[in-house]
Amino acid sequence: MSRRAPDVRDVRAAAYQLPTPVPEADGTLAWDSTTIVVAEVSAEDVVGLGWTYADASCVPVITGVLAPVVTGRPLSAVPEIWQAMQQRIRNLGRPGLVSCALSAVDIALWDAAARWLDVPVADLLGRCREQADLYGSGGFTSYDDDQLVDQLRSWTDRDIGRVKIKIGESWGARPAEDLRRVGLTRETVGPDTDLFVDANGGYTVGQARRMADALAELDVTWFEEPVSSDDLDGLATVRAATAIDVAAGEYGYDLVYFARMAPVVDCLQVDVTRCGGYTEWRRAAAVAAANGLEVSAHCAPNLSAHAAAATPNFRHIEWFADHDRIESELFAGCLDPSGGSVTVPRTGAGHGLAFRRDVAEPYAV
Ligand SMILES: [Mg+2]
Repeated sequence: MSRRAPDVRDVRAAAYQLPTPVPEADGTLAWDSTTIVVAEVSAEDVVGLGWTYADASCVPVITGVLAPVVTGRPLSAVPEIWQAMQQRIRNLGRPGLVSCALSAVDIALWDAAARWLDVPVADLLGRCREQADLYGSGGFTSYDDDQLVDQLRSWTDRDIGRVKIKIGESWGARPAEDLRRVGLTRETVGPDTDLFVDANGGYTVGQARRMADALAELDVTWFEEPVSSDDLDGLATVRAATAIDVAAGEYGYDLVYFARMAPVVDCLQVDVTRCGGYTEWRRAAAVAAANGLEVSAHCAPNLSAHAAAATPNFRHIEWFADHDRIESELFAGCLDPSGGSVTVPRTGAGHGLAFRRDVAEPYAV
């Protein structure tokens, strides 16, 4: 019996601000809370769930700007709805908050469509694997040694064989301290764990090249945003000077950004909650593939997992400590990162996640 997909009936959004356990910082930013904007799309008897880690000002963009062009359209046509949203926001500007809002709605639409079909999101996107590798991510520059070691052990104790810490403290003002912390990390995780670093654009090109030499001696294999990701020539210069993989892309909000960046990195990072949702993720991954690159998922681990399972040229998911904590608290059914990979089930509907609204409510902003 054939069934016509139901029309989208309702789009809702709300923002929740959760404090971090302790103050956190990377090379170029400090924070003590994280805001998640949750979008919900209803059609017939299903509700799709999506989210983005962005400012609460995404909420009126979703409810006031995007909802009117999404409502009333058939759930089976997510890319068509995506195009309507893209046309609607022309004069607002795509990058930044607008793209985050667009991403949350797009993700909720795919989840709703998958729930209606009673299949996992990964299957609807076009599955190509069941398991996706991941790495533990955190190692904030604000941590003292005990906090850093405790977090690293929380990953290695679960057999997660890849870890990433932040360096570039205070815009690259403390390179010796950065290297001491990387050394402590290597000592803690042992020689067989893959060790990654992220400078969040904290170094100059010359600094980054000198750091790369020292990092190579500690067997670091991933140098993320050694210089500002806006400095494509700088990324290319650092990349040419080291055998360590240079990675960037977390601020990519549209396809052209990824097309420009792909030639100067060894692995393209894409954030599904910023880039334009699953719809644009697939095209960004194709841009990477055409440049001979793999894609690594930036943040939002439980959403990234479904994209990972549907991306042929996929490397790993960033299991970011802040987002792991928030998603485990606010959503039932989160994936287990133990063993260093997640299994994206072949059964179940949508992401298989349920929003714990009562838990979230006290954090509402
Ligand atoms: Mg990063």
